Amino acid sequence: MTAPPLCRFCKTPLVHTFVDLGDQPLANSYLTPEQLAAGTEAAYPLHARVCHACFLVQVDDVVPAEAIFDEGYAYFSSYSPSWVEHARRYAEAMTERFGLAPDSLVVEVASNDGYLLQHFLAKDIPVLGIEPTANTAEAARARGVPTEVAFFGDRTGRDLAARGLRADLMAANNVLAHVPDIGDFVAGFQHVLKDEGVLTFEFPHLLNLIEKVQFDTIYHEHFSYLSLLAVEQVLRAHGLRPFDVELQATHGGSLRLFVCHAGSGREETDALRELRAREAAAGLDRIETYAGFTPRVEAVRASFRKFLEDAAVAGKRIAAYGAAAKGNTFLNYCRTSARDIVAAFDANPAKQGRYLPGSHVPVLAPSEVAHVKPDYVLILPWNLKDEIMGQLSYIDGWGGRFVTASPETRVLP
Ligand SMILES: [Zn+2]
Repeated sequence: MTAPPLCRFCKTPLVHTFVDLGDQPLANSYLTPEQLAAGTEAAYPLHARVCHACFLVQVDDVVPAEAIFDEGYAYFSSYSPSWVEHARRYAEAMTERFGLAPDSLVVEVASNDGYLLQHFLAKDIPVLGIEPTANTAEAARARGVPTEVAFFGDRTGRDLAARGLRADLMAANNVLAHVPDIGDFVAGFQHVLKDEGVLTFEFPHLLNLIEKVQFDTIYHEHFSYLSLLAVEQVLRAHGLRPFDVELQATHGGSLRLFVCHAGSGREETDALRELRAREAAAGLDRIETYAGFTPRVEAVRASFRKFLEDAAVAGKRIAAYGAAAKGNTFLNYCRTSARDIVAAFDANPAKQGRYLPGSHVPVLAPSEVAHVKPDYVLILPWNLKDEIMGQLSYIDGWGGRFVTASPETRVLP
């Protein structure tokens, strides 16, 4: 037997499974017709474990880095209007609450194409972006957002501090779950943050994943699944502590955590204490809680498989809507193939004409829905359910129905 992997934060051997989703291709590797024909698609174990010492839920580090970063196209945050609007509201709220002014400095880590920092610039507040991907950093500079190409961590933090850069506000939103070495990443902030500076992290909340059985949010590039309990330990190990939290609707339920130096004068809010109590009440500090997740995931699959089999017997044709990463985890765990689902519709032109990883379902433009005329449209991004049902309400014209698959498969009325 091989030795268990070690916790990516505290290095304890990971002997407890959270959920094992089997061998899966990378959820963002959409196949061209040539790649499909070549039949060389790689699959890697997708096994989420929980550390019984720090309760960090994490997936095994099994994918070569070059496979993860060789995706063929980069993601530009500015393509998503709702995301840009979220960033604008963030800039408004932070500027007001923390009194940011033209003599302040805002530093964003994983600043992408400047979608967030542009809103501070518009208020004449100096900014600096730190972004590892060269072409998104270039797009940021093109819109006037100063950006350095670097992976953030202890060394980058020290380098910035050595150049005299100290930040009033640091933002690292939706990146904490995606860094392989979470300890080294967090270690960088203490060097750059001013004594009374504020750092915010946003990340999907593990409690939502567990309560709503959102196992489809697990994929290889998403290394950690975070609770306040686990994040607080990582912060304290690097001289930082949370002092406030806000709940966000993004990604099916995210936390925005406000963090300061451990020695800061900022007081803990009631919201933070309440969240800590809610996680304790849900048992996030007990290993048995995590052991109960797998049977619930298996029940979701059983319900979906039964739906597929019943639909096949009845001669019904099923299509899917939304070819995002989470849909691929779900379809592949449920052993779905192009025999079960005739097509997946997605608005992203870069995905159209390709095939979903693993299931090999062809991706078509949403305008093809009216030609395919599926009996059922399975909504994969459940967080966009209402929006999608609004856009595709015309499937009613041929008796088409919408289907959601979690926590059980339901044909919507
Ligand atoms: Zn640990």
